[in-house]
Amino acid sequence: DAITNHMPTAELQALDAAHHMHPFTAQKDLAEKGARIITRANGVWLTDSEGNEMLDGMAGLWCVNIGYGRSELADAAARQMRELPYYNTFFQTSHVPAIALSAKLAELAPGDLNHVFFAGSGSEANDTNIRMVRHYWAMKGKPEKSIIISRKNAYHGSTMGAASLGGMVPMHEQGGLPIPDIHHIPQPNWWAEGGDISPEDFGFARAKELEKAIHELGEERVAAFIAEPVQGAGGVIVPPETYWPEIQRICDQYSILLIADEVICGFGRTGNWFGSQTMNIRPHIMTIAKGLSSGYAPIGGSIVCDEVANVIGQGEFNHGYTYSGHPVAASVALENLRILEEENVIGHVRDVAGPHLKEKWEALADHPLVGEAKICGMMASIALTPDKATRAAFAADAGTVGFICRERCFANNVVMRHVGDRMIISPPLVISTDEIDQLVERARRSLDECL
Ligand code: PLP
Repeated sequence: DAITNHMPTAELQALDAAHHMHPFTAQKDLAEKGARIITRANGVWLTDSEGNEMLDGMAGLWCVNIGYGRSELADAAARQMRELPYYNTFFQTSHVPAIALSAKLAELAPGDLNHVFFAGSGSEANDTNIRMVRHYWAMKGKPEKSIIISRKNAYHGSTMGAASLGGMVPMHEQGGLPIPDIHHIPQPNWWAEGGDISPEDFGFARAKELEKAIHELGEERVAAFIAEPVQGAGGVIVPPETYWPEIQRICDQYSILLIADEVICGFGRTGNWFGSQTMNIRPHIMTIAKGLSSGYAPIGGSIVCDEVANVIGQGEFNHGYTYSGHPVAASVALENLRILEEENVIGHVRDVAGPHLKEKWEALADHPLVGEAKICGMMASIALTPDKATRAAFAADAGTVGFICRERCFANNVVMRHVGDRMIISPPLVISTDEIDQLVERARRSLDECL
């Protein structure tokens, strides 16, 4: 029989558990308790196979910035599939969607970030970045400048290169990671690691870790520093205000290339087109994906400054993906950018949804289980704690509080994620103030049920 939305949920779950290997999931758990199967979506609302309507507080995986159900993107994909479903951009060929999208991104990106190397995802784009910055320095006659400094608890993707850049220990423990010449420094997570010092002093001290690493490794060996403007998958860690200015100063002083991983922060999430603008930094390369197409088609890329692109361009860069600049994905991305721009979605984040969510979200800090409540634009987190004064973590055997809270959220028809004891959200940017009220009310109810 055909497998469709109309099949009983239990049958779909059994087939799913039997044949479909899921990312970041213990497959045996699926056999015991089937996956929640999402069948359709509109705006910020998901519908599952049992007819439940859930508010998607995560915009899928931080990506559905314009919300679900925009038929303009489906039309753009269908039009492009009929006209030219595929062609590549290797060996001196090109096509109009890739040309138009790269020109549009050059217009939107700050400074002299005028050149785009396309990939199929954020992970691929970060793999491109590793090879590009090393090749750049080799072209400049400094092949020994190959170390890339990243941060513990960073997330940059799941390929060998991107997962090596990332600072997720459970990922490094599987599959022989990290690759050589990647060095991790501590993160600016004041709540968990700040001890007795003020957030401002802590942010500054954590930025200084970059300078310390450059001295230890040798300036002549360090190629680049990569970071998310606001760490996302690590738990929405909004850095203290003292952090980024000092990082920028250090990158400038030691001629270290700065790579901003904008995969989550890009395309409006922080209230500007890019998180780099919110944090007032000047990267040489920005990694993009997710919100570039609002997740409607898989596409990622690196937006590269004049200097790096010009040096790389002097020879053949032996690198590329079959789907670099895929015409259908590029057409979908262009339509998504048109909507973001013409409907002033970023203005909505900055002036309406962002301030409203900030007010409601920060009020959660009065809940007995909540330590800090942090927010930047439309990405936010709360730290769960048994003792606000000492900022204690739950004991290991109670360390599932975040998991329990996430399950309560599911039961209350709101999708939130947990990272350890941090609960995080990243809703579609088009969410209304009424929907924000529903999101936070459901989050509070779920917290109450964890008491
Ligand atoms: N970089 C960041 C900051 C991310 O959050 C992610 C995914 O969550 C990636 C890179 C990897 O992107 P992808 O999953 O498209 O490969």
